[in-house]
Amino acid sequence: MNNCPVYIGGEWRTLPGLATTPVFNPSTGGVIAETPSCAAPHVDEAAQAAAAAFPAWSETPPVERARLLFNFKVLLERHFEELIRLNTREHGKTLAESRGDVKRGIEMVEFACGIPSLLMGESLENIARGIDCETLRQPLGVCAGITPFNFPAMVPLWMYPVALACGNTFVLKPSEKVPLTAIRIVQLLAEAGLPKGVLNVVHGGRECVDALLTHPRIKAVSFVGSTPVARHVFEVATRHGKRVQSNGGAKNYVFIMPDADVENSTRGVIEAAYGCAGERCMAGSTAVVIGDASKNVYPSIVQAARAIQVGPTDREAQPQMGPVITRQHRERIEQLIEAGAKEGAKIAVDGRSVRVPGEPDGFFLGATVLDEVQSGMTVAREEIFGPVLNVMRFGELEAAMEMANRSPFGNGASIFTRSGKAAREFKHRIKSGMVGINIGVPASMAWFPFNGWDESFFGDLHMQGKEGVQFFTRQKVTMTRWFSYGEGDIWAK
Ligand code: NAD
Repeated sequence: MNNCPVYIGGEWRTLPGLATTPVFNPSTGGVIAETPSCAAPHVDEAAQAAAAAFPAWSETPPVERARLLFNFKVLLERHFEELIRLNTREHGKTLAESRGDVKRGIEMVEFACGIPSLLMGESLENIARGIDCETLRQPLGVCAGITPFNFPAMVPLWMYPVALACGNTFVLKPSEKVPLTAIRIVQLLAEAGLPKGVLNVVHGGRECVDALLTHPRIKAVSFVGSTPVARHVFEVATRHGKRVQSNGGAKNYVFIMPDADVENSTRGVIEAAYGCAGERCMAGSTAVVIGDASKNVYPSIVQAARAIQVGPTDREAQPQMGPVITRQHRERIEQLIEAGAKEGAKIAVDGRSVRVPGEPDGFFLGATVLDEVQSGMTVAREEIFGPVLNVMRFGELEAAMEMANRSPFGNGASIFTRSGKAAREFKHRIKSGMVGINIGVPASMAWFPFNGWDESFFGDLHMQGKEGVQFFTRQKVTMTRWFSYGEGDIWAK
């Protein structure tokens, strides 16, 4: 069994004797690796290695740092097929979905290659007579990143390429459920020429995370995961004086207006709800059908959900939807479906009965549609994070927006319509940081902030885009005045 190595000070090392968490192939249920549970001493070693590497790395010219990231991008592209297969093997998403996961990660590296121009400061002459003022951006020091299971390639790449391009050094703790893709990508970064200690990798769960959040050498923490843990990370790390960006969970609504195109909106809802088996923070997990959309679009959604074929993803013949991450997670989703039915939702499509021939131990669950969901129900309040679509029915847009705007989350919301007026109202008034108009999953790309609001984000500066660069740097303001000293001074005459 492959025991995942840590990467500290430029060396890959396995740590025998520690408790471990199994990494599964969700398509078969088999264990493919073990993740060690690092504790405070391992985190300390990694943070010290990153601190030792910081002086030289932060003095490396930004253009040289960017050049190294260009090499990294080339290696990621060269190893693309290998990476998507590894990603699928440990996560269970389809190869097409893994392709998206790795591609979005590479886009972050492309963004980071252009960071030198975003590091430039501002200046103003004569803020008073003969006095000039300028700002410049400097790195923070050692930063840490803690990532979830659902995007093994992309989410770690939301963090360290930007941190490193800005001159920081880094300690990454990938999800203990999917460490293999993250490790392989870091190996490629090392191959691209990264100096020892600039990036370090540790593994584990709460104990390891808490050691990162409280370590005195760590200046900033980037976190992505569920809302309770995101809040915990924000509270503990800020209490320890660190800068924090902490992305949490979500519950995203896809509105369908009566004038929406049936085929396009059905496809939009199905992809948003069941893509990556619903394990996406931007999953469109609630369809809000308005007026006559319940007569034309709703039946088409039910028909399409029923037709989704589920199966193993770790081989050439690809299903439409893969398994969920663990058996335990499948059981939780099944319990939520049951709770929905008990509280009055109607099970229009029941994915619990789906069986995959030849793979009795894979973590499969079919697409499920829960109709007539009401706001107070458990399934309406909790993030399900599985292939379950809630359907809520409303007479008109106004009341539906009022309901959606009461959600504690604020990650994404979409509307399908042909009406510019309805789309404009929705864009203006919906309480959500990312909005889709005839787009089911409005997940922003590398150049824009990944912009959760409310309980979907704790902090001030989001990941990606200019905000990411601001997060990983601090400004220095310099005021300058030069005095006249006689001969040679052009003003003395
Ligand atoms: P999770 O919160 O269980 O785990 C995330 C990370 O936190 C992991 O590295 C894990 O080891 C660590 N962790 C888990 N429990 C902890 C604890 N008690 N104390 C300290 N650390 C702990 O999340 P997950 O199940 O891996 O990922 C799914 C969640 O992530 C969903 O809620 C999803 O919406 C969210 N997510 C959010 C975004 C976003 O950008 N908003 C993106 C992707 C995923």
